[in-house]
Amino acid sequence: MNILVVGGGGREHAIVWALSKSPNVKKLYCAPGNGGIAALAECVPIKATDVDVMAAWASSHAIDFVVVAPDDPLALGMVDALEAAGIPAFGPRANAAVIEASKVFSKNLMERYHIPTAKYQTFTDMDAALAYVRAEGAPIVVKADGLALGKGVVVAQTAAEAEEAVRSMMADKKFGEAGTRLVIEECMTGPEVTVLAFCDGEHVVPMPSSQDHKRAFDGNRGPNTGGMGAISPSPNYTPELAARCMDEIFLPTLAALKAEGRPFRGVLYFGLMLTPAGPKVVEYNARFGDPECQAVLSLLESDLLEVFLACREGTLDKLDIRWKREAACCLVLASGGYPGSYRKDYPIEGLDDAGRTATVFHAGTRLAEDGRVLTSGGRVLGVTATGATLDEAIDAAYASAKHISFTDIQFRTDIGRS
Ligand code: ATP
Repeated sequence: MNILVVGGGGREHAIVWALSKSPNVKKLYCAPGNGGIAALAECVPIKATDVDVMAAWASSHAIDFVVVAPDDPLALGMVDALEAAGIPAFGPRANAAVIEASKVFSKNLMERYHIPTAKYQTFTDMDAALAYVRAEGAPIVVKADGLALGKGVVVAQTAAEAEEAVRSMMADKKFGEAGTRLVIEECMTGPEVTVLAFCDGEHVVPMPSSQDHKRAFDGNRGPNTGGMGAISPSPNYTPELAARCMDEIFLPTLAALKAEGRPFRGVLYFGLMLTPAGPKVVEYNARFGDPECQAVLSLLESDLLEVFLACREGTLDKLDIRWKREAACCLVLASGGYPGSYRKDYPIEGLDDAGRTATVFHAGTRLAEDGRVLTSGGRVLGVTATGATLDEAIDAAYASAKHISFTDIQFRTDIGRS
């Protein structure tokens, strides 16, 4: 089959890498791709959000199956457009991707179907939101309704901070339309765990659990980022918790979406907090998380293409998805200054040596005309290693990353240990 993967980050490199092992893949394309993906797939210079151009290109290039990986094109209805053009596609339709694209929608869904989550209220009126914050007090969490690149959430430690967040989202329109509606919710406590799950509209098959590291610096300090590293599985996610999450969260969510006429086919991301009162949903995403995807897919033994096709066809229950009984660690190497401003176009050295003991997924890289790989984004590489134990996987990722250098390299030294 000719396969097109939409996107161009570390997540898409991991997906392309896993698909490249499938005996049923004839040719791989990736749009727009990046400097590392180019070694496994032909990169096509189309922006991931260009829905019509992407569908037209896929139609005219004999593409048999498209994997839509990022959130924006899913919310924009790329899967709907591809299917309408007669091209089978992996990922939720826009009416199901709304579970990520609108926090008001997802919170109301959880309330209607009794899925455990933080107590909340939604607001379109700023004065009402401010009055609620004053009445509830701090700590309290203020969230813009729409997609805001992971930056539309403020965990406020004081009421003044929360009021400031409300004003910046609603009056100053800090996140544009995404902040027209707000969710304000109770502040939960406990370790966070991510569970990615394959879904076919009816069935849900969780992958090994994982844990992201969102803050830029060691000790979970500094600003939030897209993710500085991930481990899988999470030591906090016991078999008892997994069984409970299946009954109380995963199955009810799939059933709720189906009952609402929005069957979810694709990867559903459950962001969970293990609170003293039990596991609760922090957020849903309608796709693989990044860098969690890099760690989790490095443990997959089964044919990813077969799994994706089963998700679309509603036959997940007939598949026995196998995973290595090992652990994985993805260490992100970023550009100095990230998530603030940073410089690009620095040559990256040592990729071949690092690749001997780990899989180096590329995120913000590009291939120069002379064949050198250059930095081109904030998160540059995801050095991903597996091991018999989590400690072995972590040590292997760090040992491998030692080979890599570029100017102003920045990474955390405590992935999996903080
Ligand atoms: P992303 O998709 O990048 O993870 P997002 O904008 O969808 O981010 P959330 O995941 O909802 O935002 O929240 C971001 C982070 O804020 C969470 O990972 C969690 O650490 C914290 N957070 C969110 N809601 C709560 C809550 N109710 N109580 C405590 N912490 C919370």
